[in-house]
Amino acid sequence: MASVVACDHARVASDTPANRAPAEEQQGFAATLTREGDVWIVHYRFSEPQTALLFDTAHGDYRTSYWTPLDEGVQLENLDGLDGLFFEVPAQEVRLQIRRPSSRVAGTRPFLKFSDNSLAFYSGQLALLTVDSRVAAEALHGDLSLWHGQQPPVFVTFEANGPIVTDRRETPERVTVTAHLGAGPYIYDGPIPVIRTDASIMVVDPGLPEWLRVGVPKNLAAVDEALKGRWQTDIPDAVNLLAWEGPGEEWHNTGRAEGSQIAMSILGTRYLQPNQEVLADLIWFFAHERAHHFQLRPGVPIEEWPLEGAADMMATIVLADLSLIDQRGLQRRYARVQHQCAQELAQGPLDQLQGAHACGELLSLGTLNIIPNHDFFGFWRDLLAGAESQGARVDTSFYLYVLRKEGIDETILAAIQRFTSESHTDPDTATIELLQIFGLEPIYEREAGLQALDIVLPPEQP
Ligand SMILES: [Zn+2]
Repeated sequence: MASVVACDHARVASDTPANRAPAEEQQGFAATLTREGDVWIVHYRFSEPQTALLFDTAHGDYRTSYWTPLDEGVQLENLDGLDGLFFEVPAQEVRLQIRRPSSRVAGTRPFLKFSDNSLAFYSGQLALLTVDSRVAAEALHGDLSLWHGQQPPVFVTFEANGPIVTDRRETPERVTVTAHLGAGPYIYDGPIPVIRTDASIMVVDPGLPEWLRVGVPKNLAAVDEALKGRWQTDIPDAVNLLAWEGPGEEWHNTGRAEGSQIAMSILGTRYLQPNQEVLADLIWFFAHERAHHFQLRPGVPIEEWPLEGAADMMATIVLADLSLIDQRGLQRRYARVQHQCAQELAQGPLDQLQGAHACGELLSLGTLNIIPNHDFFGFWRDLLAGAESQGARVDTSFYLYVLRKEGIDETILAAIQRFTSESHTDPDTATIELLQIFGLEPIYEREAGLQALDIVLPPEQP
């Protein structure tokens, strides 16, 4: 199941400069957002006069091309990749006009466009960083690790003539969302009727091919039910947005998860005809993001490989629960995951890598195989409860600590430790040896790759 969707959780967390002020010390900024047709106006108000401000998210030349200051004495400029607002006289407010770009832009999409031309606006693009002056902004040379300022949350209020979909179950006609740390939910106020189920609300593009328009909501509801059953816990409802860009030649999926909102835009001829594997790919993405909703808890930081690897594993288990993946599909998936993991390892020790999803997934599959009853979700409940009560970070050593408490053999723990912390000169062999130690009985050929694994998923919930 190839997917070109980036999962943003880890990126947002790791891009956040460590030198920001604690949240309680921060004064928030206020903004109102209004819309007239396809033109949006943001009106920022600051409690203290500002001389210069930087934007939290980078989108190439999108802002300098499609944003226009509506007030005198303010410049919007891109300085070495960072967008900034610079005021001739310190200002306590500024208004900017925002137009929808005509082509794809860098970074998170500022707009999600539905086939009826309605739009969802990415509120995260309004997030700001304080900076002393234009000179201080120039001195960064585009490198935010040199930056010392504050990231005040921007409280964005938006009003519409109808229901507004954000990251909450409620759809009032006036909302305030928070744009902060380069993040914020999409805001949708278009005419597409909201689909409500027990555990989620969805905005599904009416132009989608019929089989997806019907199949996606049905399967997303089933994903929720399966995950809740497996986790044995309740969490806030999901808000799913799915936009259809039509059957362009290339296949392209873009997605972003933000709080309980999962937003995705899809494109490609592969979506035109009913196809189980295509549906499985798409549902897998939502299941992965939904798994994060169960994993992520306030005050419990989780390192990238356990976070992403487990979400991948949980999504795969849920797909099997929904009969969207069978043993053949599992074999194909893990042959690919092993290959990708070997490529990741070639870049350096796993616990120093960003985006090492595949190795995380391999370690999760191994964990699933060695824990009692293959109860992977139970293991994660223990992991999170332990981290919560001890104020611990879920990293490799905490992961090993919990596995040890579950009675896992020391030789396996030592192998995981080596696999995650060392450089591997022969990454293929390292991954295959790991799979052997986990008892997954890999059949591997150097030329043809991984041929088979002994995969046993946890039994279905009663
Ligand atoms: Zn993820």
